[in-house]
Amino acid sequence: MQTPSESRYDAIIVGAGAAGLMCASVAGQRGLRVLLIDHAKKIAEKIRISGGGRCNFTNIDLDTRNPQQHFISENPRFCKHALAAYTPADFIQLMGRHGLTYTEKHKGQLFCDQSSAGIIDMLLTECRNGGVDHRQETTVHNVRYTDDQYVLDTSMGAVSAPSLVIATGGLSIPKIGATDWGYQVAKQFALPLQALRPALVPLTFDGVQWQAFSDLAGLALPVRIQTASSKIAFDEDLLFTHRGLSGPAILQISSYHASQDALKINLCPDKPLEAHLLALKAHSKKQLVNELTAVLPQRLSNQWLDNDPELKPLRERPTSDVPDKAMRRLAESLQHWRLQPSGTEGYAKAEVTAGGVDTRHLDPKTMQAKAQRGLYFIGEVTDITGWLGGYNFQWAWSSAVACGKALHAKTESPPPPVH
Ligand SMILES: Cc1cc2nc3c(=O)[nH]c(=O)nc-3n(C[C@H](O)[C@H](O)[C@H](O)COP(=O)(O)OP(=O)(O)OC[C@H]3O[C@@H](n4cnc5c(N)ncnc54)[C@H](O)[C@@H]3O)c2cc1C
Repeated sequence: MQTPSESRYDAIIVGAGAAGLMCASVAGQRGLRVLLIDHAKKIAEKIRISGGGRCNFTNIDLDTRNPQQHFISENPRFCKHALAAYTPADFIQLMGRHGLTYTEKHKGQLFCDQSSAGIIDMLLTECRNGGVDHRQETTVHNVRYTDDQYVLDTSMGAVSAPSLVIATGGLSIPKIGATDWGYQVAKQFALPLQALRPALVPLTFDGVQWQAFSDLAGLALPVRIQTASSKIAFDEDLLFTHRGLSGPAILQISSYHASQDALKINLCPDKPLEAHLLALKAHSKKQLVNELTAVLPQRLSNQWLDNDPELKPLRERPTSDVPDKAMRRLAESLQHWRLQPSGTEGYAKAEVTAGGVDTRHLDPKTMQAKAQRGLYFIGEVTDITGWLGGYNFQWAWSSAVACGKALHAKTESPPPPVH
């Protein structure tokens, strides 16, 4: 039963990040009375800090007929419908209506020319156009479901609605407002979770194992990387750091990495190195280290030879005098470098959380819980994790639009859409 002081809405959305703002604007513009709540002081902080302040808001390489190839999930096909129904082109069109432009960078990644703030302003304007009641710095103390209504006790009083949308994101970067609240609500309503883990995250290595490479901190080079157990491989840049490895290559593979899995790295992916080195033997009088420097960064060439007790004595040897066996050993070690991470830098450094609300218990067309009427989960809180490069924001936009339209469909006589 409604209490006298309770404010009623058609839908309450908790989490005013990428997915929550988008969902609120879509539902509001279709005539629903929408309340959008966030506990943080600043709005949409992850959009603001993303893409170095320019928000890599989508990726035009996303294949809308087969989008699941860019996403990790226990149920990857779940994301197909929403991503095909609201595509990168749709988001670009929305930006165009707000006078925002973009630049394509590496591998289909699109960045906003007007900075991340331009995207946030656009979403806020869309929410205003939909009459969304938007409250920052509002804490939800608890959620109840009674008489087909979700009743939330909050720091601004009790509020209720027949639909509750959870858009509270993942666990990464707790200092800007990430919490496990969405996962707790899932548990409260008996929705299973897929195990949570930091993803798109730098990997760490055992101190002793890493000592030999610590002098390489700051060095970056293009590599091919894969895990020992997964078929997937990424061609990206690798960055040596003081504690381990980072850069796009590591962030990508970290999402596929299980704790006991070794990494396989090809440090010279564009050359059949063994054949190249053996061919050099026929004519090169240059020192081995100098020939290696022609195909690899100098610091890496020096360090690699010094780290191997069998190759170190050959470092200054004329290439023509280096035994075939040593050449094969060198090529093998550089092109099949295997190493065992000891862990990750955790949620403090992760861009996203892998795992989350099990999508087998959600409707892929609406994001509604199959067994709990009126309860929806959108964005990163679901068990859908995109590759690096704009895929995670695209999932936030697409899942939000699917949900926002479904909320509209629940009203008995919907008003005409706002253009
Ligand atoms: C450093 C960094 C850079 C990134 N760069 C990119 C990029 O360039 N491209 C890309 O595609 N992805 C990027 N990502 C990932 C992307 O930001 C997320 O996948 C995306 O923001 C998820 O959207 P969301 O709406 O689900 O969650 P979020 O955007 O995280 O929004 C969740 C909201 O819920 C609020 N909230 C949390 N708990 C509560 C609670 N208990 N009560 C009320 N409110 C709550 C939070 O304050 C937040 O506003 C980046 C992430 C990080 C950390």
